[in-house]
Parts: sequence; structure tokens; C-alpha cells
Amino acid sequence: MDAQYEPVIGLEVHAQLLTRSKMFCRCGTTYAGAAANTHICPICAGFPGVLPVTNAHAVELATRVGIALSCEIAETSRFDRKHYPYPDLPKGYQVSQYDLPLASGGSVTLGDGEESRRIGIVRVHMEEDTGRLLHRTAPNGTVYSLVDLNRSGVPLLEIVSEPEIRSAAEAREYVMKLRQILRYIGASSGNMEEGALRCDANVSVRPFGEYVLGAKVEIKNLNSFRMIERAIDHEISRQIQALEAGTTIEQETRGWDEAAGVTLAQRTKEYASDYRYFSEPDLPPLTVSADRLRDVLGKLAELPDARRARLVLQYGVTSDDASVLTTTRETADYFEAVVAHLDGRAPARLAAVWVTGELFRLLNRDALSITDSRVTPTLLAELVEMVHSGEVNRGSGRAILEELYESGGSPRGIATERDLTQISDTDALAPVVRTVLDNNPRAVGEYFSGKQQVIGFLVGQVMKATGGTADSATVRALLLRELSEQPAEGPVSQ
Ligand code: ADP
Ligand code: MG
Ligand code: ZN
Repeated sequence: MDAQYEPVIGLEVHAQLLTRSKMFCRCGTTYAGAAANTHICPICAGFPGVLPVTNAHAVELATRVGIALSCEIAETSRFDRKHYPYPDLPKGYQVSQYDLPLASGGSVTLGDGEESRRIGIVRVHMEEDTGRLLHRTAPNGTVYSLVDLNRSGVPLLEIVSEPEIRSAAEAREYVMKLRQILRYIGASSGNMEEGALRCDANVSVRPFGEYVLGAKVEIKNLNSFRMIERAIDHEISRQIQALEAGTTIEQETRGWDEAAGVTLAQRTKEYASDYRYFSEPDLPPLTVSADRLRDVLGKLAELPDARRARLVLQYGVTSDDASVLTTTRETADYFEAVVAHLDGRAPARLAAVWVTGELFRLLNRDALSITDSRVTPTLLAELVEMVHSGEVNRGSGRAILEELYESGGSPRGIATERDLTQISDTDALAPVVRTVLDNNPRAVGEYFSGKQQVIGFLVGQVMKATGGTADSATVRALLLRELSEQPAEGPVSQ
């Protein structure tokens, strides 16, 4: 990228709220796979003379989001009509919030500690989704479109950032963080493939040191992380090239052509006045009383950053492990359940290592989530305890976990059945150690001639002789003891 220009990015993210019914009617929001226009009623189909009623649960979820993003929640906000003609918009307007949004003035924190950066949130407002157009081609080649209103009236939240994002990678990180928060508090599934999270990116560039912002270009409908990053990167380069060539950038709306890897002009950007906003006369003002706010706040799930910090403080896990463990709320819950089952019988740090290391390796391999695994927190706790007490060694622990994961069972059952219980008592190991020393005179000779690292080889031989079940620390200690008792001159001869 050209070092003389600074990219400026502001994102508008639309998130579908996790409600059972639509924003202003009782139609269901689960219609994936259903025939077109089977989840509609006169309200969401835009018939005249109907009376919409605000979905209280949607308001609660939106309030949670506002709080989670440290916004100020308006005690009274308002719904407005945003007019524009489009075939998937049956009323000819979308109910949204314009000058009085539910929440304003928050932030999202990216990164951790010294590296952290805050991106300001301008506003969070509620609105209803539109229907969908299905484009078809008839056998004779005529192209036509069908309208499906199943999605019409589904509750959406629009979250608008300040123009404070400075790169495509940071834009991606911002959306990931936002999605993580939405998921933690149960506000949205955040599923981009299903369209439950969609993003418009506003991009401009300006010469470094310039205070005034350049004209912004809005790229519509970016619905994967890859698209967000590619489209913004491309748009930044395009604008820099245009400026270098002496062209002025006009405010406009562009689309992203995934196959070609370019943004394409769609229309010159509309301005607020084009929408003829006016307040929705069929809906009362949206009120969130102080009591209501306190109630929502009291029930709010712990947020990812707070939870990450707590895991470090409370359990002494490393901050990297804490980040991995708090990626999703389910993982953090799982880890804390393991720790609760351990009840101090092994350090939580060790449990963290087993979850983020061995268990994640298996889950990632099979693209499973932690809640799909056969290895319940109780079972993992039992295993961690066995490794910690020396009942089995780490290698056997891994084998047991793999079997638990593949076929279920219990850690102790598997250990007994597969004879993996660790041999750590000296009496049982001493004869094996002596045999190994007798059988490896050459290694012993090397040891006495100063090559101390052969001890590793000898430990390995004993481990092999015990089928991997010996405690390697005990083996090492026994070997050193035996060797120190050997007559030095004896084994030197080779
Ligand atoms: P509009 O009224 O056109 O929707 P807004 O002022 O509401 O414009 O901003 C919409 C989004 O565009 C916000 O996320 C904001 O941060 C971002 N934005 C505004 N100006 C710029 C700019 N010059 N460059 C990049 N992004 C911008
Ligand atoms: Mg806008
Ligand atoms: Zn309806």
C-alpha cells in the first residue's frame, strides 16, 4: 500500500436478532428451507390498515447489545419510516430508527493489553429486514424476478462504527470481535453464511497528516470475512490509484464482484434526504425505563474481554490460553466446568493446556464444536487428575483422550483395559532399568566418557520396555542412580 495515504474505514453491520417472531408481527423467524411466502401475514406483507406491535424480546436483545458495547441507552427513542421503492419492500418504506436511535456512543476494543485499540460506535438502532428477490431465467431466456417475503419484518440491529478503522485486516478483526460479543450475549447467531450478519464498508483515503476526510465509497453486502478483507483492500488501492492519476473520488455506492476481485460502481450514493424519513405514526415511542435497563444489565452474560481477564486472574492460565478459551462462551463454560469438577485436585492451568491443546486438536481435525464432543467436562477432569497424580503419564493421557473422544467410556476404565496405568514405583522399574543398562553397554560407555545426553536414549529404551507407561522422571532418576553405582572403569571398555 502507498505509504503516503491513510485509509479510513467505517462499518455498518446488520445483525439479525435471535427472536422467535418478527419485529412487528407474530410470524416466525425460522423459515430456512420453507417455501416462499409461507411465513407472512398482513403486517409483514405490508397490507394497508394493519397495526404493528413492537417485539419486546427484540428490544431486550438490542438493549443488551447497547450495554455490551458501552453505549448510552436512550430512555425514549423512536421508529421512523425510511422510504425507498424496491420490489422486496412491500410497504415502500422500511421501519427503522433515524434521529433517535436506541443506543449511541459506545466502542469495541480490539486486541489485548498494550496492543489494544478502541473503535468508536456511533449508534445502534433497530429496524426490520426486507424480503428477498429471486432472479430466474425462463426456458425462452427471459429473465424475471420473484419476491419472497419470508424475511420481511425480521428484526435487525444496525451497528454503525466511527470512521476509525485503518486497514482491511482491522475491519475484519472488528467484525469478528463484534460477532463474538453478539454471540456471548445471545443477541444474534452472527452466522454470516446464513445472512444473519452482513456488513457494508465505507472506505476513503486521505494523505497522511490530512485532517479532513476524503469522500467515502460504500461497498454493500459483504457477507464473509474474506470478502470484507478483499473488498476493502481492493477499494483502498483503487482510490489511491485514482488520486495519483489526478481523479477526484465521488461519494458513491459500489458492489463487490467476488469472482473478478473488484468493486464496481452501482449508483451515486443517496443522501438521508432521499429517504424522506418521518416518524412512524403506527408505533408508540420506544421506551427503556431505568428499571428495565437495570434488569437487562443484571442478566447480561459476562463479556469476552472481562472473562479472559478473569480466567487469568482466577485460575492462573496464560493470557494466550485465556484468549483461546474465551473465543466462544461454550468453550469458556466447558473449561470452567472442568475446573469445577477438578475441585483443586489438579491445577486449572493443566486443564487449560489439555483443553486448548489435545482436545482442540481433535475437535479442529473434525470441525466439531466443544458441545458436540463425547468428552464431557467430568471425563476430562478425571483424566487431567490422573495425569497430574502420576496415575498415567502424558503420552498415555493423550491415548486415553483420543479413545474417549472416538468411542466414549471412562478414563480409568480405558487405562485399566489398555494397561496404561503408569509404572512409577521404583521396585517395579528397577529391574527394567538394570536390563536396559546390561543390554546397552555401548551407550553406557558413552555416558562415562562424558556424553551425558545418551541418558535420553536410555530413558527411551526403558519407556519402550514398559510400553510407554513408565513415569519418565522416575526412570531418569533410577538410571542416574544405577549409573553412579557402576564401577567407572568397567563399562568404559567397548
Ligand atoms: P450516511 O448518512 O451516508 O449513512 P454516516 O455519516 O451515517 O453516512 O456514516 C456511515 C458510515 O460511514 C459510518 O460507519 C461512518 O463511520 C462511515 N464514514 C463516514 N464518513 C466516512 C469517510 N469519509 N470515510 C470512511 N468512512 C466514513
Ligand atoms: Mg448509512
Ligand atoms: Zn408477519
